Amino acid sequence: MFLRELTVSAGNIKGLGPAKIKSLANMGIYNVAQLICHYPRDWEDRSHIVPLRDFEKGRICSLVSVIRSEWRQFGKTRTLKIYISDETTSASLVCFNRPFLEKQLLPGRRYYLYGSFSYKYGELQSSSFEFEPAGPVLQDARRGDGVSEKDFFRILPIYPLKAGLTQNHMRVLVSTALRQYAAPLENELPDSIIKREGFLSKANALQALHFPENIEQLEIAKKTFIYEELFYLEIIVGKRALERKNTAGVKIDREYNGKPSPLQQRLIERIPFTLTGGQESALDDINRDMDSPYPMARLLQGDVGSGKTLVSFLAALKAIDSGAQAAIMAPTELLAHQHAENAARLLEPLGIRVAFLTGNIKTAGRNQLLKSLAAGNVDLVLGTHALFSKSVVYKNLSLVVIDEQHRFGVTQRQAILAKGDRCDLLMMSATPIPRTLALTVFGDMDVSVISSLPPGRKPIETHLAKQSNEKKVYDFVRYELAQGRQAYFVYPLIEADECDGELPLRSLKDAESMAARLAKEVFPNTPLALIHSKIAEDQKKQIMESFRVGDTKILVATSVVEVGVDVPNATCMVIEHAERFGLSALHQLRGRVGRGEAQSFCFLVYSDELTEDGKQRLRVMLENSDGFVIAEEDLKLRGPGQIAGTEQSGYIKLGVADPVRDAECLSRARTDAFTILEADPALNLAENAVIKSVLRRAPPFSDVGL
Ligand code: ADP
Ligand code: MG
Repeated sequence: MFLRELTVSAGNIKGLGPAKIKSLANMGIYNVAQLICHYPRDWEDRSHIVPLRDFEKGRICSLVSVIRSEWRQFGKTRTLKIYISDETTSASLVCFNRPFLEKQLLPGRRYYLYGSFSYKYGELQSSSFEFEPAGPVLQDARRGDGVSEKDFFRILPIYPLKAGLTQNHMRVLVSTALRQYAAPLENELPDSIIKREGFLSKANALQALHFPENIEQLEIAKKTFIYEELFYLEIIVGKRALERKNTAGVKIDREYNGKPSPLQQRLIERIPFTLTGGQESALDDINRDMDSPYPMARLLQGDVGSGKTLVSFLAALKAIDSGAQAAIMAPTELLAHQHAENAARLLEPLGIRVAFLTGNIKTAGRNQLLKSLAAGNVDLVLGTHALFSKSVVYKNLSLVVIDEQHRFGVTQRQAILAKGDRCDLLMMSATPIPRTLALTVFGDMDVSVISSLPPGRKPIETHLAKQSNEKKVYDFVRYELAQGRQAYFVYPLIEADECDGELPLRSLKDAESMAARLAKEVFPNTPLALIHSKIAEDQKKQIMESFRVGDTKILVATSVVEVGVDVPNATCMVIEHAERFGLSALHQLRGRVGRGEAQSFCFLVYSDELTEDGKQRLRVMLENSDGFVIAEEDLKLRGPGQIAGTEQSGYIKLGVADPVRDAECLSRARTDAFTILEADPALNLAENAVIKSVLRRAPPFSDVGL
């Protein structure tokens, strides 16, 4: 039995009542496998005693004596305070809502205490602590809730939890489940790898991950799971690459042998500029792929403004030249619409039949459009997720382009590809995928990079400004507006009472109020519009169009303008509360300007209270204009654990591994996986049988469509 096959209901775990079953369900835990795979987010190390004096180490386990206790009046409530000490110093325990501790922590007795301390009101205090009697009491006392005091001195797991369950409940549940179910679990890695790496068996690794006997054992358990996860990721990626290569011979379209097709040549002649070197070589790669017998799987990366759209149109033309259909999919209606307009402008004169399809298109027109698509009377369709909805049928779709691919999930990618037969796939992104991540989910894709911007672009001047200096920024923008230029103002929130977690963010500027203020006080008599995700799509389109043609001078927005919008006359990008945006988002936003001939400016306005670290982060934007460098910096600054991208829909959510932190392990897992697949593609060798069984009986990542 493999771990993922433990699909028996969690209700089978001994001692689990209906209330807790419900709480578990709230966390998405329904079966035993899910419970056991609910990995700790941290561990409490109570395995050795730390003197109180060293409280700065975090949560510590100390051996203390109780001196005395007293009741204090705090406002209307009486709270128990217990004074303690060890040989290094003294401290107090503030027992909020725990009056019963008066009878449990007795003066003159000694206790093992686990908690975090800090200096407050001139004394060392803790209000978050657990304890066990020390000395003779230890042998006979039993805690009522199922964890015995001998567990107190362990390294204990700390789980991510929701209401209704305590850490102790969870510890008991997991430990019971492990006792009931773990022993017969099969290993999921080939023995040779387990031996070479010194990994634990599945059952032991699980036990050690939840309840390690010591830190060393915990580390080995973590390594075992991290490697296993990355190994299977790479096996799946590797198999996909193999499968693609195995579809050889189905495509016969080799007429042009990698050279531009007639339609491509006509477009290249028509556009008023020449392709940049990066665009040329990307096109070259694409043409070669499309003429090869294998379906293309290419990722086109290029910084904002590098001209990926044109490359995608050229790719579409090649598909159309061979008599097939092409689809270009964008994540927002706004962007899809912009693409459709450009396509109409550039391609319709070549006789290409272009269509635009989104979820918003009304029934009558929609039915007509669907008929044309199915009949092959449309050559190129541009749109949103609607492009792969059930009712959409293509006559012969052979190229799928996914713009801003990181905004789409793996399943969505699969769904649009399934609309054709062995479609060529071109994914585009301006959000650079750090090299480390590129090896994971995209490990079977070929990559083209456009690293140069079209000529004549002046680098954008970036400035940092404190919020209290906003007037200077506004004055600057006023000057630019007077020159006939346009400006963006971006805010982190749509409206004033929006919440971030639990706290209303009253001190934050929001797009709605600022639009009103800018229009009334700062730039009176200047046409200004507000755009954000809650505005209806038709209206958004009108607003953008009015900004594009220059009727609207100022666009106040949230990060909806982040993606793809192209208005060359806009020269100012003002981002207020810049500290609340990720660096990659800032880079994308900044890329909305600097698209024309004129010098452009980006102002990052930050809160006066911003810490030095926060400022340091923003300075990365001053010093760098390369999106790849910024993305790598972003990763470094955020540190492992909060890696950009791993939670985005286009990437994959990993359980324990972190492809950046575990880059070294990833590359080992990748080498192992690819070596195995190359030598034994069908996984028929005895030593690889386990891999085959895992993929057949309990495939990892199947929930994300990998
Ligand atoms: P992105 O890569 O961010 O999607 P776009 O495709 O929106 O960039 O292109 C940005 C702008 O650059 C567009 O206005 C486009 O017409 C223009 N452009 C594209 N290629 C070239 C080129 N070779 N020379 C000059 N301008 C170009
Ligand atoms: Mg684009």
